Amino acid sequence: MNLTEPDAGSDLGEIRTLAEPDGATWRVTGTKVFITWGEHDLTDNVVHLVLARTPGAAPGTKGLSLFVVPKRLVSADGALGDANALSCVHVEHKLGIHGSPTCAMAFDGAVGELVGPLHGGMRAMFTMMNAARLSIGTQGPAVAERAFQHARSYAGMRLQGRAPGVAPPARSPIVDHPDVRRMLLVMKTRAQAARSLLFLAATHADRARHAPDDDARRRSQQLADLLTPVAKAWSTDGGFEAASLGVQVLGGAGYVEEAGMAQRLRDGRIAPIYEGTNGIQALDLVVRKLPRDGGRWVRELLADVSDLVVHPMTDDDPLAATLDVLADVLGVLEATTEWMLARLETSPDDAVAGATAYLELLGTTLGGWLLARRARQALDDGAGEASRAVAESNFFAVQVLARATGLARPAASGAAAIAVPLGDHRA
Ligand SMILES: Cc1cc2nc3c(=O)[nH]c(=O)nc-3n(C[C@H](O)[C@H](O)[C@H](O)COP(=O)(O)OP(=O)(O)OC[C@H]3O[C@@H](n4cnc5c(N)ncnc54)[C@H](O)[C@@H]3O)c2cc1C
Repeated sequence: MNLTEPDAGSDLGEIRTLAEPDGATWRVTGTKVFITWGEHDLTDNVVHLVLARTPGAAPGTKGLSLFVVPKRLVSADGALGDANALSCVHVEHKLGIHGSPTCAMAFDGAVGELVGPLHGGMRAMFTMMNAARLSIGTQGPAVAERAFQHARSYAGMRLQGRAPGVAPPARSPIVDHPDVRRMLLVMKTRAQAARSLLFLAATHADRARHAPDDDARRRSQQLADLLTPVAKAWSTDGGFEAASLGVQVLGGAGYVEEAGMAQRLRDGRIAPIYEGTNGIQALDLVVRKLPRDGGRWVRELLADVSDLVVHPMTDDDPLAATLDVLADVLGVLEATTEWMLARLETSPDDAVAGATAYLELLGTTLGGWLLARRARQALDDGAGEASRAVAESNFFAVQVLARATGLARPAASGAAAIAVPLGDHRA
């Protein structure tokens, strides 16, 4: 995907790459940067999807069109022909993901073909980008899960001190220390919750295409649109947080390259940046997705969460701890959502200032709800794994979800709260 240019990252409306008509095809000229696998020799051809502006097109994203531009031209029978007029001019040296070449590309009158309608480039690109956002989202639980497995195995072998109740001269594996166990469980449950959230978003994306009736398809499309930025951002932030905890579990060994955990931290850092930074995901959620149909879809989603909270509960319900926290957080989230919807009408800057905190509040609540739903289902089914699912749900609720109630303030404190001087930027 060739979107980014030196002056057009989050702000794709500034794209300057030009596509000029040339008979049945187009000639594409411009510079693209940070292009993943923009050039490599693992395949015979590299096919670029390039966002570009045609002569006389409107400014901003409305004037963008999408072109397919291969590294080697392809004849009608599929045979590879001459090299196209494009090249990789630079490969970036990065913090992580060293197995993925990130290239600056120069297009110098390269032959391209239009994909979709003229000036329909953003819409066409989003067909791929919505799927890509969920794919990048999966890098969050992937990093978290790998960091967890690595850290759990290390913690079972590393002997330090004595866990509560252990008498000398015995030494305990660090996994028996409550704080280490806490870190490992945060990593594990955060990965599970993110995975569930991604599945929920992906399920709605599938239902939006394949559900049997129109209404169900339309509802799922709206929910997929609403959930995609949350799933991307919350999952990838969680991946990096889990990798950081992985470093902490290994102590000094986590900070040196030899143990391998440092690589997970470096690799996990990219996912909150690419495919639309998590700050941009938060804006998309609050400014575009939340107010659709007057807030109908977010309210429907929260009503689903509420259904679980009001599930008939007995005093000895194994999920009591979860439901208690979930009810509190849901109340906070509902009130914050209404605040956001109201401010979007009257003072959108206030809503924008709290967008990232709101996304975190929504993501954490949905994560807690999904772990609870899984546990409730396992209990209702009498499934063998019910007690573990319940324990994980209760742990996440008490250790992670409960903190989310504190996000109401940063989410709903308005633009004035961040109007604090930064000092002289020329210093
Ligand atoms: C390893 C790697 C691989 C990549 N692969 C690809 C690829 O294959 N194809 C491709 O096209 N691009 C790719 N990118 C580019 C990537 O998508 C961009 O880096 C990303 O979208 C951010 O753009 P930027 O770097 O210009 O940052 P900027 O847009 O300059 O953003 C800098 C900071 O400002 C914030 N910000 C910017 N605008 C706003 C706003 N309006 N409101 C609030 N905050 C804002 C951002 O959230 C961020 O924190 C890749 C980047 C990297 C590092």
